[in-house]
Amino acid sequence: MLGDAPQRAICLAIQEPSTRETVRQLELHQSAADLVEIRADSIRDLDVAALLAACEKPVIWTCRASWEGGHFEGPERRRLEVLEAGARAGATYVDVEGASEFAAGAAALLAPAKVIVSRHCFDPGLPELPALFSELESIPGDVFKVAVTPASDEQLLQLLDEMPALLSRGNRVLIGLGERSKPARLLGALWGNCWTYASAAAGRETGSGQLTLTELREEYRLQEVPADCFFCAVVGNPVSHSLSPKLHNFWFLEKGLPGFYFALELEQFDTLVVRDRCWPLRGLSVTIPHKVAALQACDFVEDSARQAGAVNTMHYRDGGWWGSNTDVEGFLTPLRARIPDLKDQNVTLLGAGGAARAAALALGDSGCRLHIYNRNVERAGQLAADLGGESCRWDKLDEASGRVLVNATAIGMRGEEPPLRLRPGQFEVVYDMVYNRRPTPLLQQARQLGMKVIGGEEMFVEQAARQFERWTDSPLSESERRAGFERIFGDV
Ligand code: NAP
Repeated sequence: MLGDAPQRAICLAIQEPSTRETVRQLELHQSAADLVEIRADSIRDLDVAALLAACEKPVIWTCRASWEGGHFEGPERRRLEVLEAGARAGATYVDVEGASEFAAGAAALLAPAKVIVSRHCFDPGLPELPALFSELESIPGDVFKVAVTPASDEQLLQLLDEMPALLSRGNRVLIGLGERSKPARLLGALWGNCWTYASAAAGRETGSGQLTLTELREEYRLQEVPADCFFCAVVGNPVSHSLSPKLHNFWFLEKGLPGFYFALELEQFDTLVVRDRCWPLRGLSVTIPHKVAALQACDFVEDSARQAGAVNTMHYRDGGWWGSNTDVEGFLTPLRARIPDLKDQNVTLLGAGGAARAAALALGDSGCRLHIYNRNVERAGQLAADLGGESCRWDKLDEASGRVLVNATAIGMRGEEPPLRLRPGQFEVVYDMVYNRRPTPLLQQARQLGMKVIGGEEMFVEQAARQFERWTDSPLSESERRAGFERIFGDV
């Protein structure tokens, strides 16, 4: 890394309206960063000396002009004075837009501070990046920064493909702007960006798609990932709130495996795998709405995934993509831990979507009597016809009873009340596949009635563990699964 910051440096970017608030943010968060960027253009009562005195880390001093997406509206002469004041007060770097009228002479004017020559392209699209860097690098400077806004899946993937070569020089920063460009920020860090900008907290981003200090350090563990890592990703739309990166990156590091996992939001699935990537993509978790497209995109598909009609796991091996469905396997493990033998037991299944299909398939070999209830009764009928079981009327749900109730609908994800009011003794075990809320209203009711409960988190960790094992050929022990569970969902 260039001079003052360590490998894969994380730069806390602060954009606050006052000197006082900027100093407060520095005091709170700079210890977790390697550098700090002060956005002088947003500060009303700029006190340069007080700001620089409060910085314990190398400083990037920026006064972004409004014509380049910043807040500074005054004349360029005045903006240069602000930059010079930062340099005089001890800033390590000063950010100068390549398009500014003083860019050519900035390095001499601002010495000994180093100059970052920057260009921010907010209009959606992907410019010719080698040409853009060459243009900036014709201006005297130390670091050359380009921010672009990919307009499509293809452009995001093209950006990722171009990054390793563009960043190999070690004096560049290349950023993708926008929520969907987060992979470019993460992978750019691994491929040689001089630093990665981070916000102090969600809502305090200085650029769209910026990750927080905590995400970079604790979720992605960016500075601990080996340089020659392979990649895995969750692909879906949306995926911004996925828990999978935190879980898989935890396991990679715990097991000392050189993997890195990130979330990739794509509108269309097949753009990702039909083209060869120039970076080592080894595994994918596939989520809504791409599970059916994934099945079609695989070169080989395991029987259970074909029967489920959906692939949630892809693994690149022997020159082809293998598809499987770990939801099917992951569903049964927590249930078997409570009821080892389901033969002849009555199981009530709510739902007929992808999750219900995985559950029905998993239950198929157990010999249980399956009763399927779905709001759309035709879908319940189709599921029963495809995989066995009896389709029942949704409005008769209150009359259902048996050993196990499984909720495989989306009801409960937003805290909705369950579609039935449980009665004492109606079920022995209640299994809710919803995992983003603990406990769901259904499980609260079940608990109050003394029933055994299984939360969707158990299945989530189990299906993820099976994905991890496929990609790495490295089995996860019970204690490693449990540690992953606790990492994501806390202690039980
Ligand atoms: P999906 O394919 O979209 O199916 C959604 C299901 O929910 C359908 O049966 C749908 O009924 C039903 N539904 C939705 N809103 C409803 C409402 N207001 N009233 C009645 N029924 C409603 O989704 P999915 O992939 O099966 O996912 C379902 C749930 O399982 C989600 O909460 C998901 O997070 C969870 N899941 C958990 C795991 C895990 O690892 N724990 C894995 C996969 C899925 P209609 O057919 O009538 O529309």
